[in-house]
Amino acid sequence: MKYLFLLLLSISYIFANAHIFVYHRFADDRYQSANTTIKELTKQFEYFKQNNYEVVSLSKILDKLENKETIPDKWVALTIDDAYKSFYDNGLEIFKQYNYPFSLFVYVEATEKKYGDFMTWEEINEASKYGEIGLHSYSHDRLQNFSKQELIADTQHAYDIFVKNTNIKPLTYAYPYGEYNEDVKETLKNNFPFRSILNQNTGSINSKTDIYDIPRIALVGEVNINHKLRYKTFDAKWIEPNFFPKDGILRNIKVSVDPKYKSLKLYITGEKWQDVKVKDGIIDLDLDIYLKNARTRILIGPDVFTISNNIINKTKN
Ligand SMILES: [Zn+2]
Repeated sequence: MKYLFLLLLSISYIFANAHIFVYHRFADDRYQSANTTIKELTKQFEYFKQNNYEVVSLSKILDKLENKETIPDKWVALTIDDAYKSFYDNGLEIFKQYNYPFSLFVYVEATEKKYGDFMTWEEINEASKYGEIGLHSYSHDRLQNFSKQELIADTQHAYDIFVKNTNIKPLTYAYPYGEYNEDVKETLKNNFPFRSILNQNTGSINSKTDIYDIPRIALVGEVNINHKLRYKTFDAKWIEPNFFPKDGILRNIKVSVDPKYKSLKLYITGEKWQDVKVKDGIIDLDLDIYLKNARTRILIGPDVFTISNNIINKTKN
């Protein structure tokens, strides 16, 4: 009986994961690397519908996290970054048809200065009848290049213009390019009344997820949505690296994990997946790898779908 209970408990733990996806452009084939066609979007929405996924608002997931409640199985939330006009012109209609809520993250400078490809404030206000809206910075710069003062100034500027034009106080923030580090996260968390901050790391949401570090899975082009829904966040605490190494050479990876693991899989951008040993809950690797990419993902987990991300980005200075 006891074992049955433990078995059921572990099964519910494994499956109690929500997924948050992020889209950019819709039916805009000028930009293949950011586009989702209407055919593809409809295919994904049909998949959710036919497989009993419940598409909920981001707020609903945040409520669960704040109340430390278990996130129901099969919850999905949909987000859209940048507020491109193609969402308003092409994507929104499909969201309305399926009655699926969304969170739209506004690149404030682009809307304010009426850059051609972006929604106007009127369109954002119209869209907000069907979904939630949040901030995606003022300048859409890489935040890790800002000083603390510059980051606060950029965010305050975005915040004020957003409130003036929508009458809504933004409660959520999504990092431009999904790029951040601990300093960026702490500055936004401590200086603004955001309820939640979202990144763009592949993973899932469960009751242990940090509400200021919410993973989102990017959906671009044709995807196998069933595969994307298999991703789960692996519980790990990263000790090293914290920042992109100044000389570009990655020398140490140190991660604390559940001591029950004796071996895990590790991936570093530009390298192959490899097996690494865990000793008493610690992975401690001495390396000498020159990082060719300004954005390097380091993943660790028991399998390629159950992962913890550490993404380090090169800074300008
Ligand atoms: Zn963006």
